[in-house]
Amino acid sequence: METVVDAANKGANGSGQNKSVTVVFVLGGPGSGKGTQCANIVEHFGYTHLSAGDLLRAEIKSGSENGNMIDNMIKEGKIVPSEVTIKLLQKAIQENGNDKFLIDGFPRNEENRAAFESVTGIEPEFVLFFDCSEGEMETRLLNRNQGRVDDNIETIRKRFKVFLESSLPVIEYYNAKGKVRKIDAAKPIEKVFESVRSVFTILGDKAAA
Ligand code: UDP
Ligand code: MG
Repeated sequence: METVVDAANKGANGSGQNKSVTVVFVLGGPGSGKGTQCANIVEHFGYTHLSAGDLLRAEIKSGSENGNMIDNMIKEGKIVPSEVTIKLLQKAIQENGNDKFLIDGFPRNEENRAAFESVTGIEPEFVLFFDCSEGEMETRLLNRNQGRVDDNIETIRKRFKVFLESSLPVIEYYNAKGKVRKIDAAKPIEKVFESVRSVFTILGDKAAA
């Protein structure tokens, strides 16, 4: 099977160098704390954080030809076509010297998941799932003031709907494979990180054994 680097090299330098990577998908509804906890994981466990949403927003800013389309999708809370997001993720993995990645906010639907797996050949080590009520997520999103075009009540409702209909099935898929590590995310940041820490500590022990 083709690896992420094989695929990336076709478009890049063709050196054919291989890179085996560990990937953890970080999933959960909008406002569940994925980005915040990823920053903690980076600090304590040496992963590189790749936020699919941040990569897409950077792509808009760069003035790419896809910028307008991505901007419109984000304003509507819709899922950007897989090929666009996967290319950005692949490039970010390829260009980074690290071999451990948190992929935050992706895959968001079954098609994202299947396409990522077939294009990159990467299966996640596990899926970290931040479980949080809509009421709590809504409060957080409306209070975070990051100037995001999608943090308004109308788009937030759309994002919740997309999460329930499209993203939860991805979590179910991995749950059936025993790959989901569910975290109660409706607690203060430090409390949530205690649970997150224990998930990654167990992983570290296994790797060392
Ligand atoms: N998005 C997407 N595909 C992805 C990740 C993000 O289409 O793989 C788009 C989608 O419109 C989403 C928005 O970017 O609503 C913001 O995503 P992000 O993960 O930054 O926000 P979150 O919903 O986690 O707060
Ligand atoms: Mg985020």
